[in-house]
This record gives sequence, structure tokens and C-alpha cells, in this order.
Amino acid sequence: MSSEILNEFLKENLEDLKEKGLYNVIDPVEGANGPVITIAGRELINLSSNNYLGLATDRRLIEACIEATKTYGVGAGAVRTINGTLDIHVKLEEKLAEFKHTEAAIAYQSGFNCNMAAISGVMDKHDAILSDELNHASIIDGCRLSKAKIIPFIHSDMDDLRTKARQAKESGLYNKIMIITDGVFSMDGDIAKLPEIVKIAKEFDLITYVDDAHGSGVLGNGAGTVKHFGLSDKVDFQIGTLSKAIGVVGGYVAGKKDLIDWLKVRSRPFLFSTAATPGAVAASIEAINILMNSSELQNKLWENSDYLKKGLKELGFDIGESETPITPCIIGDEAKTQQFSKRLNEEGVYAKSIVFPTVPKGTGRVRNMPTAAHTKEMLDSALAIYEKVGKEMSII
Ligand code: PMP
Repeated sequence: MSSEILNEFLKENLEDLKEKGLYNVIDPVEGANGPVITIAGRELINLSSNNYLGLATDRRLIEACIEATKTYGVGAGAVRTINGTLDIHVKLEEKLAEFKHTEAAIAYQSGFNCNMAAISGVMDKHDAILSDELNHASIIDGCRLSKAKIIPFIHSDMDDLRTKARQAKESGLYNKIMIITDGVFSMDGDIAKLPEIVKIAKEFDLITYVDDAHGSGVLGNGAGTVKHFGLSDKVDFQIGTLSKAIGVVGGYVAGKKDLIDWLKVRSRPFLFSTAATPGAVAASIEAINILMNSSELQNKLWENSDYLKKGLKELGFDIGESETPITPCIIGDEAKTQQFSKRLNEEGVYAKSIVFPTVPKGTGRVRNMPTAAHTKEMLDSALAIYEKVGKEMSII
């Protein structure tokens, strides 16, 4: 017998979301999440995955995953601090530190719980966090969990950040103060102003925390946004995910040895959630080896993203100011954006619409994620469909 209060709450709120067009219907992908996907039996050019380098379906990673699964089994069997730490978890962490040019690294089961773990593992109610207003949801939740005072600053506005950093410091209210930013912002593709952030942090003795989920494997010769700016020894927390360019699943913090040692004894998902699967760990190691030994995939990614951006721009679409492969196609009106995405889908392109409240009102967009795995023919077909639907809907 289920609770009447719960039943009423769910019914009312689900209906409300559906009425407002905010109820997200999930379309399962039938097969691999590659450059072309099948949904409901239809083949679509996929411009919506974070599989930047195409590694999610790379044979070398698949082999590494299979071999590790044969050796270690499908599960790690325990949390890291009991006996779930397998030698390959340690190998992955050593590899990540090498990849990120830091003393050490700690791996988690996802990027989301990595942010929850790392922020709340170090910050508490006596501290303050200066957080870019466009930071990812997992950062926001990690900040909330820490109980630190959250002070949002205007997106990438360094004057606002400096003013708020000074006020926080001079108030004398906080033990520790941290600045948190995404390295690359996932909705517009812009890069955080890390040189200035690091300068402000130095001026007021603040901790720096960069979540580079969308920069790793993409910028800085693969090593990410911090390396791109030559700041590897100047950022305290370098966060990454193994789920995007790396193509697998998992998250990590790279930093000084003492920081990593602390997180190993104090961050709760490390202590209380079962370690990542051996297959995922081995595939991640293989991916990092590939990234460290060749820039072929990154070059292909950039070539494809330049090609798509140029094509969309020439057609007359507004693609914003992205500095990375993330390519928004800004439509504006929410209903029109959703209709545009639907029509693209009907014609053969899978590109998701992103509207308020994920992005500000009136800036609805279809977000395109080109990858290294797309061929020119696929991108040309996508552009032809964009042209057809754009003209039909008087967008271009
Ligand atoms: N941080 C950022 C900036 C992200 O974009 C994402 C993924 N959407 C995450 C963290 C979470 O990573 P994961 O998918 O590995 O949990």
C-alpha cells in the first residue's frame, strides 16, 4: 500500500511538467553511441554525445575492457578503503597524475560524485566558495553538501569575482575560500579565464578548483584547459571525468599528494561507494595512453568541429562564441527551438534542444557535439539537413 501523499505529489508534479513541456522523454539508443545512432529503428547522424574522440567504441579500449574483465571479474567487490582497491585502480591514478602533470590523483566512480566528494571533502560551514553562475549541477550540489557559504559570481566576469573575493577575504568570516569554475562551459563552449582566476586566487590566497570535464582530451594537447594555459602547478584541484573524451565512465581529482591523501581518507564516495569496475578502469588507462602518445584524434576532432562551425555559419546560423568543439546553434524562442530539433530529427540528425531553465530565457539552442569519429560525408549530410529545416522554418 503506497503513500497517498506521495501518489498525489507525483501525479500533480508530473502533470505540471508535461503541461509546461518540461518532461524529458528518453529515447533509448539501439546499439553503440557512435557518430551514427539508431533510435526507434531509424538511423540518425549523432550530434549529441560527449564521446569527443570516438573512444567509447574504440577497439583498443574494448579489448582492454574485455581482458581486465576476464582477469578481475565484472565488479571490484568492495569500496576502495576495504579491499576494492585493485592494482589497476592504483595504475589508473598514477596514469592520471602523469596525464595531468600533478603529483597524484584519486579516481571516483563518476564525474558527478567526484565533485560531490572533492568539494565536501575539503570545504565546510566555516568556509566560502566563489562559484561561477554557470557551473555544472554537480558542482552546485557539491557546494551545497559542503555547507560552505556559496557566493556566485557573474559568468566569467573577473571584476565581479575580484570584488567578491576581496569582500569575502576582508570580512574575516571564513577559514578557507575557494574559487570554482568549469574549465569549458558546456552550453556555450567558452573557456574559463584561468590566468586571471589564478591571479585573483594568488592575490587573496584562495584555493582554485577547475572542473575540466569538457576540456580534457580536447585542449592543451589533450591534457586539458589548465595545461592549455600552462597553469598545471598553479591550480589546486584539477577535476576530470572519464566519461567524455576518455569514452568510459568515472571521475578524478588530480593535485598535490597531500590533497589526494586527504581525499582518500575523507571523501565519502571513496569510502562508502563500491570502486569502479575493472573493465572501465582498464579501458580508461588505455584511453589515456592513446591520448598521451598521439594527437591524431584531437586533431581530427578540431578539424571536424571547424568544418561544422564554418558550414553552419555560412548557412547563416548564429553559433555563438564557442572556443571549443561544442557548437550551439542559437534559435532563441523555446518552442521554436524544440520544433527545430524535432524537425532535424525527422530529417535524420539527432541534435538535442536546450532551453530555459538550463540556459537563460530566449537563448534556446540546439547543441551540436562533433566528434573525431564523424566523417566529412556525415557532416555534409547534417549540414544539408540544417539548411533544409532552417529555410523551412525561416531561421536562415
Ligand atoms: N562536470 C561537468 C562540467 C560536466 O559537464 C559533467 C557531465 N555532464 C559532469 C561534471 C559529470 O560527469 P559524469 O557524467 O562523469 O558524472
